[in-house]
Amino acid sequence: MQKNLVICPVCRGPMGLEKGRFGLVYKCLNYPKCDVTHSATKNGTPLGFPSDARTRKARCELHDLMAKVWDYKNNDERAKMYSWLGQNSKYGHISMMSFGEIQQVMIKVNKLLAKKTQ
Ligand SMILES: [Zn+2]
Repeated sequence: MQKNLVICPVCRGPMGLEKGRFGLVYKCLNYPKCDVTHSATKNGTPLGFPSDARTRKARCELHDLMAKVWDYKNNDERAKMYSWLGQNSKYGHISMMSFGEIQQVMIKVNKLLAKKTQ
């Protein structure tokens, strides 16, 4: 099943492909000493960038924050959200953001949220 050898960017150990909550994910085989994960597409191609627990937590927070501005269940709203994210982030996807970029995008989302709730 595993086609790609993925090396953990933190401990340099190998990463194994597993089924996670949101599809396939590479997990560092040195877990629990190292908790880096890396999402993958359905055919096992690494997607986005490996992240540590701090970055993953920040991504979840950003996702929840953005859900207050755009209704993800509504297709139009979701399309608007992706278009906004495309203009306001390097890769247009939360799973590709570094911890630093998430902080910057969060500031912008908070501004939109403030406008929306005025
Ligand atoms: Zn590791």
